[in-house]
Amino acid sequence: MSEQKPATLRIGVDVGGTKIEAALIDELGRVLRTERIPARHGEEAVIDDIVAVAGQVCDGDFNRVASVGIGTPGQVDYVSGHVDNIVNLGVTSLDMGPLVEQRTGVPAHVENDVNAAALGAAVVLGGGTSLPGVVAFLNFGTGLAAGLVQDGVLMHGASGAAGEVGHIPVEPHRFKCPCGQYGCLETVCSGASVARLWPSANPAMPDLIRRAKKREAKAVDVLDMVVRAIGDTIQIVAQSMDPSVIILGGGMAKTGDPLVEVITAELRRRESQCRFLASLDLPSRLRLAPLNQPVGAIGAAVAA
Ligand SMILES: [Zn+2]
Repeated sequence: MSEQKPATLRIGVDVGGTKIEAALIDELGRVLRTERIPARHGEEAVIDDIVAVAGQVCDGDFNRVASVGIGTPGQVDYVSGHVDNIVNLGVTSLDMGPLVEQRTGVPAHVENDVNAAALGAAVVLGGGTSLPGVVAFLNFGTGLAAGLVQDGVLMHGASGAAGEVGHIPVEPHRFKCPCGQYGCLETVCSGASVARLWPSANPAMPDLIRRAKKREAKAVDVLDMVVRAIGDTIQIVAQSMDPSVIILGGGMAKTGDPLVEVITAELRRRESQCRFLASLDLPSRLRLAPLNQPVGAIGAAVAA
């Protein structure tokens, strides 16, 4: 019998609405290889694709692999690995973790995609091991949610809802939210909401900021509304968790420094009215999510 090396590699798979990406990482958190394939619809296709892309990053040799971590949209039971309602992929109910485990012969672990990205961003910004202390990751994607990491471990809460700040109904315009409430933060400061409020460009946020800087009245109003909601979101997360680092992630965060500038200006304006808030110095805690690394796949691998 040939001598078998211990399985020290981990695979992370990031399931997205249009693509499925896998990363192979070593015991030091270094990314050895990444692969991506287009996402297809339906329960069977999703499992086939996860197994296929995971197989690609390890050349089909799952004996070298200690675990497969998966980050996915939908309602995730991270204990059982069951996922409900991946709307964009036509999945209503899927035993994702157990099925991937069966097909690969490797233990599988499933997290929601925001949590996986949160942990991945904390690990990449930490240089291979997670940033210490509490790290909050704000995902300004189609929706709005936060992922919370403490010393490299995801905080799920009692029901897995920790960080679901998008549906806190405090936005003064009281827009109806698909969740049924009115005035959810997500109705104003998510990627989809900004696209709705500022439909003249795609992506909307960089154009909105540019036009507001030129003092176009409508742009100034819309940006003001969006940035106030972002400011509220940051304060809610910061004052409940007191994170040392607040990472801005999701599609909207690809706006980059211009977004950080307008958020910083909003927080400084609030600090000028409140000594307590000034003492927190929240702008100094803001970081952009790394764009050049597959943080969702890395986080999924590390969480497994
Ligand atoms: Zn809502």
